[in-house]
Amino acid sequence: SDSNFDYPVSPSCYDWSKHYNKTLSEQPEKRVTIADVGCGYGGLLVGLASTFPDRLALGLEIRDKVVQYVEDRIEKLRKDNEEKNQYQNISVLKTNAMKYLPNLFYKGQLEKIFFLFPDPHFKKANHKRRIISPALLAEYAYVIKVGGLAYFISDVEELYLWMHEHFKGHPLFEEVKLEPTDDPCIPLILNATEEGRKVNRIDGKKWYGVFRRIEAPTSN
Ligand code: SAM
Repeated sequence: SDSNFDYPVSPSCYDWSKHYNKTLSEQPEKRVTIADVGCGYGGLLVGLASTFPDRLALGLEIRDKVVQYVEDRIEKLRKDNEEKNQYQNISVLKTNAMKYLPNLFYKGQLEKIFFLFPDPHFKKANHKRRIISPALLAEYAYVIKVGGLAYFISDVEELYLWMHEHFKGHPLFEEVKLEPTDDPCIPLILNATEEGRKVNRIDGKKWYGVFRRIEAPTSN
């Protein structure tokens, strides 16, 4: 049940030192600015660690065993790269990302948020379980700063179209057309995650989109 989740009442109540002890002991004011929603086995986080060495990135994952796997993976990377002080900037949190994001992050805290190969929930009755919906987009818009970017990708065209349509219809996001050479995150979302690699192995197709958080339109 949800009582198993270690989620704070508000962002100020959460102790991040258990995630980024080394970094925060030197820079106590530093905050998470990159979130990977439904991070799975952590392939994106590992790529982000070296692509954005001065940023803190957090994976959000709901399955216990998967969270444990990612914790162990990061722990090992930290140990193996101790002299270079690498992988101190990535971590994972067990949580239901559909429920607790504003408890974890302040308004405008995030520069980037990722939704990579989310569960499709094909049946119409299950569409409400999809990680992108008008209500959830309002929460994502709250935690992303103006100018920040949301990335999504799927190998299921129907789900891609669903995510695209919902972002497109939201007044606080505008589409940004980015090619793989325009932004180091595009090659990562295409190829860094376990799910992305699975699609590569079967030569499957992928569709992605990027949306920028914009100011609320002023009415006059
Ligand atoms: N992004 C990863 C990748 O590309 O390899 C994993 C994709 S996997 C198909 C979807 C992941 O989202 C699963 O690991 C699942 O447990 C997680 N997930 C589903 N609903 C979630 C939720 N409400 N909060 C956090 N994680 C969730």
